[in-house]
Amino acid sequence: MTESALVLFSGGQDSATCLAWALDRYSAVETIGFAYGQRHIVELDCRAPLRSALAAVWPGRLGPDHMIDLTAVLQGIGGTALTSEIAIAMTDEGLPNTFVPGRNLLFLTCAAALAYRRGLRRIVAGMCETDYSGYPDCRDDTVKAMQLALNLGMQRRFVLETPLMWRDKAATWALADALGGARLVELIRTGTHSCYLGDRSRLEEWGYGCGTCPACELRAQGWQRWRAAAASASITASPSGDET
Ligand code: ZN
Repeated sequence: MTESALVLFSGGQDSATCLAWALDRYSAVETIGFAYGQRHIVELDCRAPLRSALAAVWPGRLGPDHMIDLTAVLQGIGGTALTSEIAIAMTDEGLPNTFVPGRNLLFLTCAAALAYRRGLRRIVAGMCETDYSGYPDCRDDTVKAMQLALNLGMQRRFVLETPLMWRDKAATWALADALGGARLVELIRTGTHSCYLGDRSRLEEWGYGCGTCPACELRAQGWQRWRAAAASASITASPSGDET
């Protein structure tokens, strides 16, 4: 039986890891991406090369890509640091102003509508509650409620899968390593984009980015924690058990 899935694929680290996770599991995988007036629109340029590279790792599984343009909708609402040239800061509600209200709810709704039309049952998305910026639409409860609402509203049995929900950024790098080894880690390190400011001018140890925005900080800290854990594991696993 063909197990099919639709992956929300932005071109970032999390969604690329989710795409690898889905390709490793399911025999027919399609991708959906969204333009919404994001300042880091450069992330969308990462999608096609990443798709080709991942398709080569898991041959014969990757189907079509679908781009949906929500620019008029989300930029029309406006007022966030992710969709306008305003400084990234905390709001009075204790949330970063990079939060785009309704964005992930809209993404999941569009993804389910497309999955309905394409006959795909699983919807895979990179929301994460463990190591995130406090966005309420990344919470597990939100995703579970959306699954219920979408299934009721479309009379389907979609399964919303969030493989990163309980993984921190270090564990996300470890997952990439487990799925595709050094080749996949390198692909994600150099081929994905996370930086909110869209900076791809220099390659750091953990990938491209400004190094100081919240997305870069999370990515860099996760990389460093993962490298440190991998280094101490290899010391423990060495035959002598002692480096000296
Ligand atoms: Zn950055």
